[in-house]
Amino acid sequence: MSQNPQQIISSIAAKAQKLDRPVKLMELCGTHSQSIAIHGLKKLLPANVSLVTGPGCPVCVTDQSDIDVMVELALNDVPVAIYGDTLRVPGNVMSLEEARRRGADVNIVYDTTQALELSKSKPRLVFFGLGFETTTPMTAWAIKKGLTVYSAHKLFPPAMAALLANKDNRLDGFIDPGHVSAIIGTAVYSQFKVPQVIAGFSAVDVLKAIDMLLSQILAKEPRVENEYTRVVRAEGNKRARDISDEVFQVTDARWRGLGLIPGSGLEIRPAFKDRDASQIYKKIVSEVRHRPAKPTACKCGLVLQGLIEPTDCALFGKACNPDQPYGACMVSVEGACNIRFRFNQ
Ligand code: SF4
Ligand code: SF4
Repeated sequence: MSQNPQQIISSIAAKAQKLDRPVKLMELCGTHSQSIAIHGLKKLLPANVSLVTGPGCPVCVTDQSDIDVMVELALNDVPVAIYGDTLRVPGNVMSLEEARRRGADVNIVYDTTQALELSKSKPRLVFFGLGFETTTPMTAWAIKKGLTVYSAHKLFPPAMAALLANKDNRLDGFIDPGHVSAIIGTAVYSQFKVPQVIAGFSAVDVLKAIDMLLSQILAKEPRVENEYTRVVRAEGNKRARDISDEVFQVTDARWRGLGLIPGSGLEIRPAFKDRDASQIYKKIVSEVRHRPAKPTACKCGLVLQGLIEPTDCALFGKACNPDQPYGACMVSVEGACNIRFRFNQ
């Protein structure tokens, strides 16, 4: 296939003309969403081909109750370490930024190595482990080295199953996440009977993926194709999976706006319970998790499922903006509302 963007755009237009209905494609990765916005790709697509953003940003899908646990630990004099984009994510009560303003010891780290280093001077430090299959191996490695972690790590395929199970959401194809696929490989996606293309992150990669998806839709032959062969191998990265499996086991998990998704979370195995903050601080964690969720006007749950556009939320650009985010999708640069606000597309 050609690498020339203009030719790919023409090919997409020709295929779109042959479609007998509008099609909705979902990109599942926050980095894809950013690339689509930066390159203005939505404007290049025919009117009957729409792109919606899925739950691909790990910060956006972190449930309020997990933020609440970290806030509560921090307010109880436990030093915490978090990735910077988590700082302003609202929980049910407050964000970690607000906890820090109230005197809590909230530390920003760039990776688990830095968290480990910090734990030498702050032995009670708890690291907030979050992210999908890509970041889990690093957290697992750090736990083995002695880091204490509260795990909100998640698995991606169960979320895809939940999206497809929602009958309100007619999705015609997925652009599968590139980084996650580099770890989990390609075979796992074949359980989903929709057109799928694993794609890289350049504009050409994404355009090619759309073109390949339209070919599958026209042929009525859903399958899993790999456009990102320069990075993603069919077998994925076994070493990364092995260390994750050694340290974590599958559990049910709450996703912001999507609710409880069976088998979609990762908890620390009993063998590492002395590094598991949910065991060390069992009472705090259990109390916080049993609090009723605060009602919110934020529509992140619908945005993350591609059911509404960010601009359909009454708070968008008014009460909720990147300077004062009301919901998680406005916090992260990979969040759908933040991207829509910054790029107006
Ligand atoms: S973790 Fe990787 S795959 Fe997931 S949203 Fe971020 S960049 Fe995409
Ligand atoms: S605009 Fe703000 S409040 Fe509305 S869905 Fe997005 S993040 Fe939530």
